[in-house]
Amino acid sequence: MTRTVAVVGAGAAGLVVARELLREGLDVAVFEKSARTGGTWAYNPRADADPLGSDPASPGAVHGSLYASLRTNLPRELMGFSDFPMTGRVFAGDARAFPGHREVLAFLDAFAEESGVLERVRLRAEVLRVAPLGGHGERWAVAWRGEDGEVAEEVFDAVVVCNGHWTVPQVAKIRGIDNWKGNQMHSHNYRVPEPFRDQNVVVVGMGASGMDIALEISHVAKEVHIASRYSEDRLGKVELHNNIWMHREVDCIQDDGKIRFSEGSAVAADIILYCTGYYYHFPFLDLDGLTVDDNRVGPLYKHIFPPKYAPNLSFVGLPMKTIIFQSVELESKWVAAVLSGRATLPSEEDMMAAVREHYRHMEEAGRPKRHTHVILPNWEEHMNWLADQVGEPRLEAWRLEMLEKAVRCALSLDERYRDRWEQEDNSGTSALKHSLGSKL
Ligand SMILES: Cc1cc2nc3c(=O)[nH]c(=O)nc-3n(C[C@H](O)[C@H](O)[C@H](O)COP(=O)(O)OP(=O)(O)OC[C@H]3O[C@@H](n4cnc5c(N)ncnc54)[C@H](O)[C@@H]3O)c2cc1C
Repeated sequence: MTRTVAVVGAGAAGLVVARELLREGLDVAVFEKSARTGGTWAYNPRADADPLGSDPASPGAVHGSLYASLRTNLPRELMGFSDFPMTGRVFAGDARAFPGHREVLAFLDAFAEESGVLERVRLRAEVLRVAPLGGHGERWAVAWRGEDGEVAEEVFDAVVVCNGHWTVPQVAKIRGIDNWKGNQMHSHNYRVPEPFRDQNVVVVGMGASGMDIALEISHVAKEVHIASRYSEDRLGKVELHNNIWMHREVDCIQDDGKIRFSEGSAVAADIILYCTGYYYHFPFLDLDGLTVDDNRVGPLYKHIFPPKYAPNLSFVGLPMKTIIFQSVELESKWVAAVLSGRATLPSEEDMMAAVREHYRHMEEAGRPKRHTHVILPNWEEHMNWLADQVGEPRLEAWRLEMLEKAVRCALSLDERYRDRWEQEDNSGTSALKHSLGSKL
């Protein structure tokens, strides 16, 4: 009998999982709580009522965290799927190398439609609970609420969780924050720069969003101060900009209300904008032996299968700091191959041993628990390991080169890097791309 699989979420991960499951001949139902597919890439101008998004009753009430001006931080060559590339075709009239969010959404729409996945998606269907039937999840009961508010329960052979992890804000706890009289916001709720006009802003965190937002608000704000633990080699005013300064991490709020940074300087500010990332959050799961502890979802074998419930429960899309679309595609191919019986997993004990080994390596390298799914510095090895499991080619050299270049460009704090990319001869990368011809 055909095995049935429920997929939770119809973002990039859920869509590509569904395609791979269908290719393996499985019967798929994708549950999507919103009114459309595309997940994160469906820009929502609305933000949470609480600018910090930390209301414990509804953490991250609005799913999306995109800002209006957002362009991808990876070039389109790194944002497609293996046989459905983003190159060679324009989806919403934005042919730029680093397109705006509408182009990515239109790409995902085309992918959903042309892959046949769309007809498997149930929109406005929110999964409320996923519970194992049998001690190790031999089958799974999925309770979900439809558009009419009715709650139904269905049983599936397997469940793949793809609910995204860019929604529930992580807010750094600052010493002395009780002395703070100004405003606070998390980047989850940042949409446009206008509210920052003439303000002195402290941006905490220097990830992709932190840098983009700091640059954007610098055009309207009085001063922008970026606080980051990765800034030590370029403290002080940023050369390219009149009103941006780099600092080390925030040390505390002083008694006089100023924000002090670890290098010793202090500034008076109007608003703290936290670009400090997100929590993994699975409100529909309450499973014995599977926890989210300091942002470590575990235990998970290769960030995907919880050994106790494998193979019938899996997670796709958890790894961060990688080529996300390619990673979710490889993860999906492996999950689909395992569920169809084409690939097998090690025993529960062996998977647990591998997880313990991973944790031990992290500890030895001094990496904090909260970075468990930050796949750097082993992302290449991880992707190649996945590719080997499913007989896919290993990562091509030009992809690595291109990713490294994109990261370097973003860190330069030169806001024109995306447009410059197109004018430049991307030497090594373009030569390699050329030699790959129509594969792109
Ligand atoms: C500001 C920002 C910029 C980014 N820029 C890039 C970039 O340039 N390049 C890149 O590759 N990646 C980027 N990313 C990462 C991006 O999130 C991934 O590319 C990708 O979209 C993740 O897809 P996903 O399917 O895992 O999650 P999501 O896109 O978040 O999709 C999850 C889906 O699950 C649904 N869902 C959640 N809970 C339930 C439930 N209980 N029941 C039913 N449905 C549910 C949600 O409604 C949503 O549709 C960016 C992310 C952010 C926040």
